[in-house]
Amino acid sequence: MVTRWAVRSARAFDGERFLPDGATVLVEGGRVVGVEAAAFRPPDDVPVAEVDGTLLPGLVDCHVHLVASGAFPGTPGSLEWAGTAESAAVDEVVTDSLRAQVAAGVTSVRDLGDGAYRVLEHRGREAEGLPRVVAAGPPITIPLGHCWFLGGDVDPDEPGALDRAVAERAERGVDLVKVMASGGFLTPGSDQLGAQFDAGPLRHLVGAAHEAGLRVVAHTHSVAGAEVALEAGVDGLEHFTCMAEGGADPPAALLAQAAAAGVTVCPTLGHDPARLPPVSAMPPHILGMLERIGITDRDEHFARAAANTVQLRKHGIRVVSGLDAGAMPAKPHGHLWRSVAELVRGGWPVEEALATATSVAAEDCGIDAGRLAAGRLADLLVVDGDLAADLTALSRPLAVWVGGVSVSLP
Ligand SMILES: [Zn+2]
Repeated sequence: MVTRWAVRSARAFDGERFLPDGATVLVEGGRVVGVEAAAFRPPDDVPVAEVDGTLLPGLVDCHVHLVASGAFPGTPGSLEWAGTAESAAVDEVVTDSLRAQVAAGVTSVRDLGDGAYRVLEHRGREAEGLPRVVAAGPPITIPLGHCWFLGGDVDPDEPGALDRAVAERAERGVDLVKVMASGGFLTPGSDQLGAQFDAGPLRHLVGAAHEAGLRVVAHTHSVAGAEVALEAGVDGLEHFTCMAEGGADPPAALLAQAAAAGVTVCPTLGHDPARLPPVSAMPPHILGMLERIGITDRDEHFARAAANTVQLRKHGIRVVSGLDAGAMPAKPHGHLWRSVAELVRGGWPVEEALATATSVAAEDCGIDAGRLAAGRLADLLVVDGDLAADLTALSRPLAVWVGGVSVSLP
């Protein structure tokens, strides 16, 4: 028997804008079948959940690492741990990560790096009230390159190696391909300011992925890595930190190049300040790197990075929100709201910032949700308070549904 039900709120955000008359969202068979004003009265046999707060689509975190939960092992090496741990232990962490995400109103996640393709086994758990999962499997990197310990290292000079890497992923059924175009802070010895691949091999990899129907997103902290990635025709840039000797600001030419290429950028902003280690406790390789870039005041750097995202918006570049959850203790699962808050702090209008974590994010992930609209999956969230006036409401979920399945919150 198909039953119809509804949720009603005087305040609502539909994925693009706040609805002045609130919303009554009608749900049937896991999908939204109608969106009316709050004053709308459905037939008597349709149960209505009246909620006090703001109703919006469930959030979509476009950059997570489910194998590395902020809660366990909770050290900068948690991704490294995942590269060698037993499958059963990794699976437990993945489930914990998914629970933390959905409890925070995140109804879909895009996983951009696991070990041994474990995350792929956790797709399709929506009936359990867990988020939808889109996953890349192990990120492709160079020998001893960024996150090599996840098992995706490939020698680009070895004939056929890049083709084999893509073919293996296609065979495994990944949803997209992740490639490390620059080094990263989590991998000592990798070069955050350089490019890991030349444009030729990277273009070849992107071509092979596209032929297999897979999009490619590139991790890049450096200007050099972003340039190569854009030249190679990737579909998305992760982090886009734009680091170079002496600074971390996007050059105008690079922004124009990104806009012309039509790529998506996921700036992975946001962190829990309470879980950031003091500068004195940072490993020497990170301190040395910060010195090369010229970052002396961390808070100032974060504020500047947030302000720099306005340049992306001005250039008409599609921006999605993703926290890089699990990658380090200061980025726990379920804190996507911090990414949105950073955009607003940088100068984004609230509605557009929220869209980067709902409608725009869902579209970029190929997930048929992210909007309060008839026909979309009923991935819904109610947060405590008036979200239009108080963005911190986003951190206070009151009710969550995944495909119409009610999630019991802790
Ligand atoms: Zn990441």
